[in-house]
Parts: sequence; C-alpha cells; structure tokens
Amino acid sequence: MAPQKTVLILGGSFAGVSLAHYLLRHVLPSFEDSYRVVLVNPSRNFFFKIAAPRALVRPDLIPPETLMPEIETSFSEYTSTEFEFMQAYATNLNTALRQVHLQGIDGSSSVLEYEALVIATGTSSKSSLWSPRDPKEVTVDAMTATHQALQRAMHVVVVGGGAVGVEVAGELGSEFGNTKKITLYSGSSRLLTMVRPRLGRDAESYLTSLGVKVVHGIRLTGSPKSTVDKKTIVQLDNGETISADLVLDATGSKPNSEYIPKHLLDEKGSVKVDTHFRVAGAGPKVYSLGDIASYSHGGILDVTDAVAPLGSIMEYDLSNGMFGKVVEFKRNEKETMIVPVGRSKAVGVVFGYRIPSFLAWVIKGRTFMVSSSIPYSRGDGFKKKVLL
Ligand SMILES: Cc1cc2nc3c(=O)[nH]c(=O)nc-3n(C[C@H](O)[C@H](O)[C@H](O)COP(=O)(O)OP(=O)(O)OC[C@H]3O[C@@H](n4cnc5c(N)ncnc54)[C@H](O)[C@@H]3O)c2cc1C
Repeated sequence: MAPQKTVLILGGSFAGVSLAHYLLRHVLPSFEDSYRVVLVNPSRNFFFKIAAPRALVRPDLIPPETLMPEIETSFSEYTSTEFEFMQAYATNLNTALRQVHLQGIDGSSSVLEYEALVIATGTSSKSSLWSPRDPKEVTVDAMTATHQALQRAMHVVVVGGGAVGVEVAGELGSEFGNTKKITLYSGSSRLLTMVRPRLGRDAESYLTSLGVKVVHGIRLTGSPKSTVDKKTIVQLDNGETISADLVLDATGSKPNSEYIPKHLLDEKGSVKVDTHFRVAGAGPKVYSLGDIASYSHGGILDVTDAVAPLGSIMEYDLSNGMFGKVVEFKRNEKETMIVPVGRSKAVGVVFGYRIPSFLAWVIKGRTFMVSSSIPYSRGDGFKKKVLL
C-alpha cells in the first residue's frame, strides 16, 4: 500500500474542527485510507469563544469543561490511521517545500509535509481571555485570576464598543452594577458600529439601566500601566488619565498569520483566498477557512456556510477532478448579529431583520448558547454530506 498522504489543518476551532469532521465523514472515506487528517492546535481543548464573556464573570454557570471540550474526545469516532491531533503552534509555512514547521508546547520542533493544507488559525483579540492561543490550563488560570480580581475591584473599565465589549460590560453590569463602578469606552461615536445604529442605541440604554457608564469619542492610548498600589492607569487621547482596579480590553482582533509568508496575506494580515478558498501563490491544494481568510467578515456563519463548499472543492482537487465539484462560494451579506446585554436583555438582527430583545435573549442571551459547545466540537452540524 502506498504511504498515506497528509491533509494538514492548522487551527482547532470552529473552522478547523468542523472541516476535519466533514472531510473525515464525507470526503476521505472514498480514497480508502490514502489520506489522514492531522489537526494542529496549541490547546488540546476546543474553546467556545461565544460564551467567554459570561464564563469570565460567572464560571459557575459556564464551567471550563463545558466551555472547553477536549478535541481528541470529540474525534474518538475515527481511527488513528484516519485522524491525528497534534498540540503545537505552526511557526513557519514553506509553500515551496510543502512543509509546516511546528513548535510543541514543550518547545520541541518538528516539520510536517502536506499533500493538502488548510489554514484555519483564526484571529486573536488583544486579551487572551476571549481568544486564547494557549493550552487549556493557561487559559483557565488567566480566567480564574481575572474572575478573582473582579470580586476585589471597585472600578472596572471595559475597552471596546463592539459585540465583545458590550457583552462583557453587560455581564459585569448584571453582576456588579449596583456595587462597583463599571465604565465602557466605545472608542467610537456609538456602540456596535458593525450593525445599524438602532442596535447600538438599544444596547446602550440596557447597559445604562444596569449601571454601566458608556463613554464615546475617547480612545485609550498606549498600554495600561500598573502602579504599586495595584491600580491600573490608563492614558486617554483627550490628555486625561484614569485609574481603575481592572481594565478588560475587548479590542484589536488580528489574524494569527505571523507564520505565513507575507505575499500570501492582504493588508490586514488575512490569507488571500479566491472564491474557492484556494490560496493564490501557495501552490496546489492550499486553502484557508474561517476568520483568518480574506472572504470572512468574522463570525460563525462565515465558517459553517463554507465548510461543505470547501469539502467539495477539496474532494475535486484530491481526486484530480473525478469526484466533488468546484462551487463558487458567496458569503451571505445580510446583516446578522446577536448581542446579549446582561442577563435579561439582548439586541439582534438576523439576515437583515431586527429581532425583539426577548427573541435575541432566547437565542443567545439566556445561556450564551453554551449547550452548542460540545456539538460544535463533535461536528454534529455536519453529520450529513451537503449536496451542492
Ligand atoms: C467573545 C466572542 C464572542 C463571539 N460571539 C459570536 C457569536 O455570537 N456569533 C458569531 O457568529 N461569532 C461570534 N464570535 C466570532 C467567532 O467566535 C469566530 O468567528 C470564530 O471563532 C472563528 O473561528 P475560526 O476557527 O475561524 O478561528 P478562531 O476561533 O480564531 O480559532 C483559531 C484557532 O487556531 C489556533 N491557532 C492560532 N494560531 C495558531 C498557530 N500558529 N498554529 C496552530 N494553531 C493556531 C487558535 O488557538 C484557535 O484554536 C465571537 C468571538 C468572540 C471572541
């Protein structure tokens, strides 16, 4: 039997995990063990980012084992010939040699050759609390330390008026709005600038009623500095400084693409893909999926809608055109976002239609959809092959 070839997937979050299940169930079986999937991620655990704002403030409602299911357990239906998980960071991509250099979390180095490569290393925000690139233990320690600091803090500053900043401020307002000073700096003229103004206005009014002070038009400059009395000093761009006990930074989502040659990236650092997810200039059978890819505006729908089309294109490429189909991918451009604001309110727009607070709360605000964490890691949404 010819040696197995490797389909290498970098990044074990929504994109990497979903595609791995799709390929293992619906694409690779017809190649009779010619290919194995190797999934590389710095953590052995999937991180359900969506629920991070509530998990940080109320870990009793969303404990680490629900927030971070183990990846290998979620892939236990496959044999070791079909699937391998590697806990490592990709540190260098050499498209000429078709190799990826990896660094294990113990610092060890290795090199993997690929027949096909999927870049799905996503994005990270400035704070690792909502988009960690570390092993689970490091993330749990960071979340626990912040949770404890929250109990002691009298003034908490949240930076960033996007969905994550609003969700974090809402959780803080629900929990501590009557006992602590909570300030949200939007860094803009309104909240939730990605969607129509009405949502930002509603979110602001819900936050205000929870005791959160929302400040617009002022940005933080430089990094927050700690003082000997354990305060954090933040410099504002209006020349003032503020002192807080804790600053939570919900800004600055950047692609995790530092290991990728620059000519494969656009000006934002995203991987340039065509409408078939193929990475131009990277050689054959190199693809990118999810938040890191240039087609994505960031969000789960841009992952889940793309999994089956990419699976079909990979099937076509791996079989030299005998199976699969090359389909043009068009992302759904309709405005969609649901943002919980505390325990009982939420704002939302779904496929262009604004939905009432109660419905947005039922869909996301009630539980932060945490019951979907394990199903996402098991690829439950991809049990059937999608006919395109
Ligand atoms: C707090 C929060 C709430 C959100 N809520 C929603 C929501 O309600 N609805 C919605 O649609 N979207 C939401 N999003 C966005 C959504 O989480 C992202 O769209 C989604 O996570 C993208 O998945 P991904 O797999 O492309 O990338 P990511 O989730 O960013 O995952 C990338 C993976 O790659 C790993 N990685 C990074 N660098 C390397 C490397 N060098 N080598 C190997 N692995 C690496 C990372 O550790 C990570 O596991 C939210 C995001 C946040 C932060």
